Amino acid sequence: MNRNVLIAGGGIAGMAAGIGAARANWQATVFERSPEFLEIGAGVQLGPNVTRILQAWGLGDALAQVAAFPQSLHARSLTTGQVLATLSLQNTAARYGAPYVTLHRADLHGLLTQAAREAGVHIHSDARVQRVHQSPEAVALDVMQHSQVQSHTAALVVAADGIWSPLRQQLLEDGWPTFTGHIAYRALVAQADLPQHLRSQDVSVWMGAQAHVVSYPVRGGDDLNVVCLAEGRLLDDEAHHLEALQTWNAKKSEAGTLTELHHALRGACAPLTDLMSACRDWRLWPLCGRGVMQGAHEHVQGRVALLGDAAHPMLPYLAQGAGMAIEDADALAVQLLGATPENAPKQLQLFALARWQRNARVQARAVRNGKIFHATGPMRLGRDIGLRLMGASLMDLPWLYGSK
Ligand SMILES: Cc1cc2nc3c(=O)[nH]c(=O)nc-3n(C[C@H](O)[C@H](O)[C@H](O)COP(=O)(O)OP(=O)(O)OC[C@H]3O[C@@H](n4cnc5c(N)ncnc54)[C@H](O)[C@@H]3O)c2cc1C
Repeated sequence: MNRNVLIAGGGIAGMAAGIGAARANWQATVFERSPEFLEIGAGVQLGPNVTRILQAWGLGDALAQVAAFPQSLHARSLTTGQVLATLSLQNTAARYGAPYVTLHRADLHGLLTQAAREAGVHIHSDARVQRVHQSPEAVALDVMQHSQVQSHTAALVVAADGIWSPLRQQLLEDGWPTFTGHIAYRALVAQADLPQHLRSQDVSVWMGAQAHVVSYPVRGGDDLNVVCLAEGRLLDDEAHHLEALQTWNAKKSEAGTLTELHHALRGACAPLTDLMSACRDWRLWPLCGRGVMQGAHEHVQGRVALLGDAAHPMLPYLAQGAGMAIEDADALAVQLLGATPENAPKQLQLFALARWQRNARVQARAVRNGKIFHATGPMRLGRDIGLRLMGASLMDLPWLYGSK
């Protein structure tokens, strides 16, 4: 059998898996259901644990062309605007060997797609993966292309088909993700359209009661990405169409969204309400999820490896979902380097064992961050005192940003 790997899904995890496989001398083919790769999404932050991998893949220069390099991360009170603590990001590269960056998700996806193509990965759009069939010797994917189902055979399959992964559903039968009770409202605004006092090249997290706002520069600093994350309920109609709302670009009426935002951010300080008012074209994203990973079986089933949100969807409160997808791809590449088509299942097990506990820890920490960011009453008081006293040391995360 040949050194072929088939990848379901052409998002961040799928493209990263393609690059990793190609670097390990496997021929990778990506099947993406969307007809075209659109400029979708808002911003993502990438810590040094992730940019270190991108640099090792030779993507440091491409990253520098589209990313912003914030100098500080400020934790602020949503009601007073006061800075409670600041983590300097200036010496991140010196401390962890790679920078902390913020960028548009489409730019990250674009540079990964280009790198995958250059590495020889075959990429098919308008190709919907339907089912996987395994035998001890090989694995096959049924893919709907040009109105026909075609079967493709390989030594390995990577399921990188996102949080609503049909392949996970088939292999693990552990139910669909559920609504977490948190909704993200996202907007992008050109810094040039903002008054001077609202422009920023730093990351700010404004923490309120049951809601917080994150802002940071993207597109080399030209735009500001603003996300409000609030606890809330969905309308009955929305709750029944959760997957349709998870398109990165879902939209409600402007008036409806502004009313919800206004409610979520009641009591916010003037600079923050000014910033929110300056943003137009809000998109929303009901955050869905699963429990924390329970074992290696959630990463690998026979000749199929699950990567990214298909394996471990997480709340964005540690800003590591895309990061863990890229770490997954890098760890998979390590095992593929020593793999043959025959011993691939054993190598995949090693990949799963190397990854699942770290992913579970990041998932759990993201949930915990949500509780801290949205704290009320005495817990909020304790949080603010802790941040004022210990600030940067609470926000720096050597276990995450340092070597794995
Ligand atoms: C508000 C918000 C903010 C975030 N901020 C950050 C951040 O700052 N830092 C960070 O690291 N992460 C962040 N994340 C998380 C990050 O965006 C995700 O973890 C990441 O995009 C997951 O990538 P993925 O490739 O696993 O899944 P996806 O991006 O969902 O990609 C899955 C792909 O598979 C395709 N697909 C699905 N089914 C099929 C099928 N049957 N056949 C073929 N193709 C299929 C889909 O079309 C899609 O292209 C954030 C998420 C949200 C919601």
